[in-house]
Amino acid sequence: DELVSQIAAGEVVERPASVVRELVDNALDAGAAEVGVKLLAGGIRSVLVEDDGAGIPAAELALALRRHATSKIASLEELERVGTMGFRGEALAAIASVSELSLLSRTADAPHAHRLDARSGELAPAARGTGTSVEVRELFFSTPARRKFLKTESTELAHCTEALRRHALARPDVGFGLWHDGKPLQQWRRSSPEQRLAQVLGEDFIGASRPVALDLGVLRIAGRTGLPEAARARADHQYVYVNGRHVRDKLIAHAVRAAYEDVLHGGRQPAYVLFIEIAPERVDVNVHPTKTEVRFRESREVHQAVRKAIEAALAVPRA
Ligand code: ADP
Ligand code: MG
Repeated sequence: DELVSQIAAGEVVERPASVVRELVDNALDAGAAEVGVKLLAGGIRSVLVEDDGAGIPAAELALALRRHATSKIASLEELERVGTMGFRGEALAAIASVSELSLLSRTADAPHAHRLDARSGELAPAARGTGTSVEVRELFFSTPARRKFLKTESTELAHCTEALRRHALARPDVGFGLWHDGKPLQQWRRSSPEQRLAQVLGEDFIGASRPVALDLGVLRIAGRTGLPEAARARADHQYVYVNGRHVRDKLIAHAVRAAYEDVLHGGRQPAYVLFIEIAPERVDVNVHPTKTEVRFRESREVHQAVRKAIEAALAVPRA
């Protein structure tokens, strides 16, 4: 089973940023209002994610580390309309198979917290408030071939920061903090959606962009898109969310590009952040461990809507 978990880990865990993504997913699923991410050496030495969510009962700590153990899906039908970010029930098991992982957690009604060390299985009383801390140390320590593929600390840190940014943009109602080697790097306080965009992408992004808003009932698009002349410096910041989930989608990227075609004159694609809300039965969400892909039932309509929404934001005259 250890080997099976390590193979699964190959799919789930590429680098410290994958650990950040999975642990923050879990914190948000647990209803956290505040999430702290503390990294050592770009996350290679340690990723610690602390939340003030519901916590895990002591009796269930060991279960949380077992493969295909998830508390989030009760039936196959439920799998069809997944409301939570993680549901495969394999992230913690996979990460634990290629690291030194410990869980420290306390539920609201527990007299104190418990700590579980994944490798030894040792469960001990511990202190903390309600919520969960997951610490992942020495990623790939037992698989040097994988560890070899990690880049420099600063590159891994940049990937971790990006992973957190993706969560932070989608959840302005949650506060996020990021520390590296003991130094605070980011503090994104709970705020409005617009303020969160400014916090994460910079105040200048607001002035250099226009609001996007389109409501077709079954399909709603919100967000901001960069002005062609102003936002070129941030061309790498292109974020698309479908029903709250960060996705990479060629169809949407193409629709945005089409909208900019008439105004860009060969310049670089500006930054944009789009939140698409669509009836769940009109989209298939395929959450591969390392990327999220979507397939829209009516892809032409979605393409047209995104293009129209961006053109309206930029006030591009329609041909
Ligand atoms: P999944 O998220 O797909 O269920 P994971 O392996 O990521 O699978 O987590 C396994 C289980 O551990 C979750 O279903 C949840 O019950 C519990 N868990 C993990 N992290 C947390 C957390 N931060 N707070 C509360 N429960 C957690
Ligand atoms: Mg999970």
